[in-house]
Amino acid sequence: MTLTLSQRPSPPSSIAYFSMEVGLESGMPTYSGGLGVLAGDTLKAAADLSIPLVGVTLLHRKGYFRQELDAQGNQTERAFDWDPQDFLELLTPKVTMSIEGRPVRIQAWRYLIRSPSGHTVPVYFLDTQVQGNTEWDQALTDHLYGGDERYRLCQEAVLGMGGVAMLRSLGYTEIQAFHMNEGHSALLSLALLKEQLGERDIVAASQEDIDRVRQMCVFTTHTPIPAGHDKFPLDLVEKVLGQAPARFLAGGQANVDGELNLTSLALMFSWYVNGVSHRHEKISQDMFPDYPINSITNGVHAATWTSPPFKQLYDRHMEEWQEDSLYLRYAINIPREEIMDAHREAKQHLLKEVLRRSGQKLEDDVFTIGFARRATPYKRADLLFTDLERLRTIARQVGRFQVIFAGKAHPKDEGGKELIRRIFRAAEALKPEVPVIYLQGYKMSLGLSLCSGVDLWLNTPMKPREASGTSGMKAALNGVPSLSVPDGWWLEGHVEGVTGWSIEDGQEGSESGAAEAESLYHKLGSVILPLYYRNPMDYAGIMRAAIALNGSFFSAQRMMVQYLNNAYRPTNNRRS
Ligand SMILES: *Cc1c(COP(=O)(O)O)cnc(C)c1O
Repeated sequence: MTLTLSQRPSPPSSIAYFSMEVGLESGMPTYSGGLGVLAGDTLKAAADLSIPLVGVTLLHRKGYFRQELDAQGNQTERAFDWDPQDFLELLTPKVTMSIEGRPVRIQAWRYLIRSPSGHTVPVYFLDTQVQGNTEWDQALTDHLYGGDERYRLCQEAVLGMGGVAMLRSLGYTEIQAFHMNEGHSALLSLALLKEQLGERDIVAASQEDIDRVRQMCVFTTHTPIPAGHDKFPLDLVEKVLGQAPARFLAGGQANVDGELNLTSLALMFSWYVNGVSHRHEKISQDMFPDYPINSITNGVHAATWTSPPFKQLYDRHMEEWQEDSLYLRYAINIPREEIMDAHREAKQHLLKEVLRRSGQKLEDDVFTIGFARRATPYKRADLLFTDLERLRTIARQVGRFQVIFAGKAHPKDEGGKELIRRIFRAAEALKPEVPVIYLQGYKMSLGLSLCSGVDLWLNTPMKPREASGTSGMKAALNGVPSLSVPDGWWLEGHVEGVTGWSIEDGQEGSESGAAEAESLYHKLGSVILPLYYRNPMDYAGIMRAAIALNGSFFSAQRMMVQYLNNAYRPTNNRRS
């Protein structure tokens, strides 16, 4: 095979961003939810800002999964087969690594993110479906978050260690910062340590060797509870990685209660660690008192998450907004009528989409609430349905409203699956006073339609479990205010009655949420619906403030600049 021009090894870049999932386009099922979409938005922002950064992830040939829901809300999962060739270019170099003592060959597919100014950020999707690999090894990069512990650890070895090897073979020899987006890629630190050691045995690694690697690594943690962190039994680690690496890991801070904890491994090897909101920094600091934790609040990629009518509106009023999302601050001067017009268009688009997908016709002059998230108990998608009679009364006495849900439950998350069924039962019980629709197959394109087409974005997680949350930021970009529990990003974006509303009185860690449900009903019935129906111009003022105050700040470009200023500093330009 001849080497075409585009397959030449790329020039060296200086930052490598590793993530188990990356969401770049709706048609590529290489993400499961917030973490992957954030990774995709991060890479797009790096391209916008001409930052020399490359992404590394796994191919996920069978995707996360395709969700199907029956009339009772029972979820079934099907493989999401897709053809990488439709989106990616297969590169020539192959690397070989050892897994469970076997050689495993890895190839890479490239996606090029091109910014409006022409800067490109390549993203490498690692793939073990290579001739010569055993059938089991060929399937290693098939399923995102599928399989058992052994499958998962092997995948993480491919991502972290195979990823470093692939970058080197593609010509990236000068990388100055390795960014681990969540602990899944923490094994990259072992690959860097091995490079540092040269011929020396890993068990002989000194603190100085570890410190050398630490100078290069950055870690972003996303999980606010200890149970959410990836861990593996040490005997499995020995089987997969070999005796010497297992002995090294067992002897260090990554051995937590006899298990390899990937978060601890990432912490041990990173000079800079951050949580994804100010609140999450504090939560993480309590969880990991031995390491200094910083915060960089997540953001969303404005050009990706702005609906066509709002794009046109922004193009008219501040044409630079795509290259520099801070210009969205100027939205404060857009006439409210124009905001209402753009929103009406986005809402009509959503309701058409709902009709197409569900056969159900919703009315466009009825107040519409949106809720789309991973279906998992702590997100409490059913908090709204604590008291159905109360909802009927509000609809009857104050003003009509309708609710649109979407979200997948992880195949093994029984609590999440029950949550979907509960929403279906509530929808049935609320007929016909309050229309409730659950759309199947939540993905990026549906996410954009929902975040931009509803009148209110509802968020009811159990505090303090929402490390950041990003869908409310997407809503804000489209002038959709939030009604949310004060957790994650909303603690920073919330100005009561200005950018949206808060659901108060929740006890930290409380599952019942009775007080929060009460607050939710109060805000909806006494504040939000009356404003929407009786004072639409004031409602549009809140929509406008959501854009100007939150759309401008909670952007991936601002986040990327903060990583640049704080996390990707050269060693001679660091605090402390
Ligand atoms: C934005 C997005 C998410 C993450 O939303 P959160 O509010 O952070 O939970 C998940 N899935 C899809 C498809 C998204 O677009």
